[in-house]
Formats: sequence, structure tokens, C-alpha cells
Amino acid sequence: AAKGNGRGVHRFYSSDMHADAEDRRALEEDLRRALAADGLHLVYQPVVSSKTEQITGYEALLRWNHPVRGPISPTLFIPIAEDSGLIGQIGEWVMHTACRDAADWQDGIRVAVNVSPSQFANPGFPSTVMNALAGAQLAPERLELEITESVFLNDDDGTDAMFTRLKAIGVRLALDDFGTGYSSLGYLKKAPFDKIKIDQSFVRGAATKGSRNSAIIKAIVSLAEALGMDTTAEGAETQDELALIRQLGCSHIQGYIYGKPMPAADVLAGQRSMGTAASANGFQSSRPER
Ligand code: C2E
Ligand code: MG
Ligand code: MG
Ligand code: MG
Repeated sequence: AAKGNGRGVHRFYSSDMHADAEDRRALEEDLRRALAADGLHLVYQPVVSSKTEQITGYEALLRWNHPVRGPISPTLFIPIAEDSGLIGQIGEWVMHTACRDAADWQDGIRVAVNVSPSQFANPGFPSTVMNALAGAQLAPERLELEITESVFLNDDDGTDAMFTRLKAIGVRLALDDFGTGYSSLGYLKKAPFDKIKIDQSFVRGAATKGSRNSAIIKAIVSLAEALGMDTTAEGAETQDELALIRQLGCSHIQGYIYGKPMPAADVLAGQRSMGTAASANGFQSSRPER
């Protein structure tokens, strides 16, 4: 039987999978330790207005520099945090830290925070958001929560209620990675999103001849406009991609072409050196990620 004493379970993995499971457990322990010992940090990537080329906000992205393994991608450790239940505490730390950092920025500049499906499913989540805003004295409209389509997988009254409670707080809501999930359009009808983030897989290579991506981006933009939502094109890397995205009418752009994620101190330094106009043109961080 697959159940029984916990250790017997290992017999059902191949030796490679066994190593993976062991690895995950080790990483989970290390992650727990990192959380307790200030081992996680946030970096911030600029989001730029298509029209004005001014920075309108930054997305907070979580980083973990493992003492032995070096930097570990959030695409690897966030799922581990989700499975182990650590995501609650990690998400709370991210929310508080991002709001505190953003409170030091120029008025009107927003911070976007990624919210995982299990955070979103937690009835205590709105309190976490309110506490973080109050603790940082940050106006709710300066916080944007990024949610992926997967929150609709268990589409129930709880999901609807969560949207209502978050909108009541006054934060903005963005639909992240649009086009990569199961992309039912039904939920766009009722979920109160302020913004759709077009996934990088559509943006990258969109400027290549014969690519169908630009037709898809165009369709998403007109859909968003009809619904009164902004659009951010994610992952623009080249001048050609940038030119195309602007031509297709995306209201915002986020990508290496304008700036890589950078430490909070560099966001502040950049704003100071720009005076009041946080222009993205020629914007350089002293310590961008590679
Ligand atoms: P995401 O929310 O879609 O974030 C955008 C990702 O695209 C980031 O990767 C960013 O560094 C990367 N990116 C932005 N522009 C470019 C570009 O021009 N070229 C390329 N190649 N990449 C670009 P990152 O930081 O590795 O994060 C990956 C994912 O991990 C995020 O995707 C998000 O789903 C998750 N994540 C990161 N931080 C958090 C967090 O605090 N909480 C939760 N729940 N998830 C997080
Ligand atoms: Mg995001
Ligand atoms: Mg995304
Ligand atoms: Mg993503």
C-alpha cells in the first residue's frame, strides 16, 4: 500500500524522483530558516507608461540567495513555499516590506505585489493587506495586487467574496501572466481587475516577421480597453519589441528594455537623481540583476 509508515512512501519514487523529494524537503527547511533569519529580500522592477515613458510603479520580486547553492529562482521556491504552507508567512513578509519600501517613494508611484493562490484563498488575507498599508501609512491606491488565473480554478463564493473585500480596501488588482492559464474569459466579466498583464511569452519575439503574437496582443488590448482595464506588456527586451508594443496600444510596459529588478536603495537613488520626473529614458540602476 502507498500509505502506511511514512518512510515506505519512498519506495514508490524512482531514484531520481527520490532525490527530488529529498531536495525539496531540504530546501523547505532552508527556506524556513531564511525566513526566520532575514535571508529573503525584495527587488523592484520598473513599470513604465507607454505614452509618457515615465515610471508609474515597480513590481516587487522576491529573491533568495541560498548560503550554499546561491540564488534560487522564485519559480522554484514559491511552489515549495506553497506546498509546505510557508507561503502564508512569506507572503505577509513580502506585503509588509513592499508597502514600507513604497512609502518612501514619490507620491503616486505604485508598488505591485504578487499574491499566490493560497494567500488569496485565505480569509485572513484582507487583514494582512490592511495591516501592511496601515503600518506603512501607504494609501491603498498605491498598492496593486497581482493575481494569476489559477485563483479561478476553485471558483466559488469565496473567490467572489475575496475580490469584493479587496476592492473595498481600495487596492488595485492586476491579472498576471494573462494568456498562459486556462484563459476562460468568463471571469473577466465579474472580477474587478484594473489591469491585465500580458504574459512575456506573447511579447518576446512578437516583432519577428510572421509571428502571430502581435495579433494576440492586439486582441487582448482591445478586450481590456472595452472593459476599462489597463494593459502591461511583460518582458520587452528589444527596441523592436518596444516599438511594436507601443504601436499595439499597451498602456504600460515592463521589461529589461527599461530596467531589470533592482534593490530598494537603487529605486530611491534613481528617484532622487531624476528630481520629480522619474523618467525611464536613460534610466540605469547601479546594481541591476544580470
Ligand atoms: P511574474 O510575476 O510574472 O514576474 C515577472 C518575471 O519576469 C520576473 O521574474 C521578472 O524578473 C521577469 N522579467 C521581467 N522583465 C523581463 C524581461 O525583459 N526578460 C526576461 N527574460 N524576464 C523578465 P522572477 O523575478 O524570476 O519571478 C518569477 C515569478 O515568481 C513571478 O512571475 C511570480 O510569479 C513569482 N514571484 C516572484 N516574487 C514573488 C512573490 O513575492 N510572491 C509570489 N507569490 N510570487 C512571486
Ligand atoms: Mg507579477
Ligand atoms: Mg507575469
Ligand atoms: Mg509569472
